[in-house]
Amino acid sequence: MIEENIDTKIVDVTTCENDREMLDRSLYGAAQCLRAGGLVAFPTETVYGLGADALNETAAKRIYAAKGRPSDNPLIVHIAEVQDLEVLGYPNEKAYALAQAFWPGPLTIILPKKDIVPHGTTGGLDTVAIRMPSHPAALSLIRQSGVYVAAPSANTSGRPSPTKAEHVIEDMNGKIEYIIDGGPVGIGIESTIIDVSGDVPTILRPGFITKKMLEQIIGEVIIDPALEKPMENCHPKAPGMKYTHYAPKGQLSLVEARHVEEDGSQQAVIRKICELADEKRAEGYTVGIMAPEETLPCYEGHADALVCVGARHERNTVAAGLYAALREFDAANADYIYAESFRGDGLSYAIMNRLLKAAGQRVIQVGDDPV
Ligand code: AMP
Ligand code: MG
Repeated sequence: MIEENIDTKIVDVTTCENDREMLDRSLYGAAQCLRAGGLVAFPTETVYGLGADALNETAAKRIYAAKGRPSDNPLIVHIAEVQDLEVLGYPNEKAYALAQAFWPGPLTIILPKKDIVPHGTTGGLDTVAIRMPSHPAALSLIRQSGVYVAAPSANTSGRPSPTKAEHVIEDMNGKIEYIIDGGPVGIGIESTIIDVSGDVPTILRPGFITKKMLEQIIGEVIIDPALEKPMENCHPKAPGMKYTHYAPKGQLSLVEARHVEEDGSQQAVIRKICELADEKRAEGYTVGIMAPEETLPCYEGHADALVCVGARHERNTVAAGLYAALREFDAANADYIYAESFRGDGLSYAIMNRLLKAAGQRVIQVGDDPV
């Protein structure tokens, strides 16, 4: 059952993030609401989350209804104290080491779950995903509510994760009790997920915390093979990965050259995108182009919606702007969207993971020779 017509309260905390007392006071009502089984959307450093009491199965179920999310897609449980790891799961040494190194922060750790965590929160699994976020509003809310907060991204299932309160309002207004407005988030893509419950720690979802950063703390880490071969029929360990993630209303294609960072091949990519866009527009379609600020001016006059996605030389700005950019193409009703790609290690790997999903793995390769 999807609940509509709730009188959603919007609480603006953009002015009090550095004033702990004022922040606590502003969030008191929302925290009590969480405690009583309500739904509260709140900013984290990655994306906005849609929170409910993780140990209250009825409350957690309301998350699935509000998002329209399949109920076997488990939720991440957010905590405000590292020691709560042992209340919810069975942490090993590696889990402690990672928590010590990266919490509070954008890393989710998968552990065997304790009985106290209902299967309604873990999508029926015997493991639980746990994260301690660093955003002051998230921490204040969790601490004041006195509950562990199950929170997936606060978007309608199938839309991009929200990176601004406006996105949450678009998707959740009238369906949940509170939306906390903390302004645009810092990172912009969801947390890295690592499973430490097996023999070799495995990355189930890439994010801001990279493989290299994890390996510096716990030694060998592998990437789930399902991430490397998304088109093959392997069984992903993170159930969320089997669902088609966000796909824009229009058809998104990534255009890249084999040596993306070289000037010459970058020119070939620009030429190709302009050519494809012009063709589709000549056929009467609405066309979107997404590019970083370095090359954006080259596309002027070739798209109905030309959207900037940060700066190529500062990949963190691309992550931060990615989901807002994708939402703009839906708003513009773009039929075809062309985007430059962002191959690379570390954060680029995480960005490409989201972009390739949004593009249904559609990549157009441009040869080194002039076209
Ligand atoms: P979201 O909350 O929207 O960021 O999605 C949460 C992601 O965490 C989903 O893709 C889930 O599949 C993954 N996840 C949550 N709990 C588990 C778990 N116990 N084991 C594996 N993956 C999990
Ligand atoms: Mg999500």
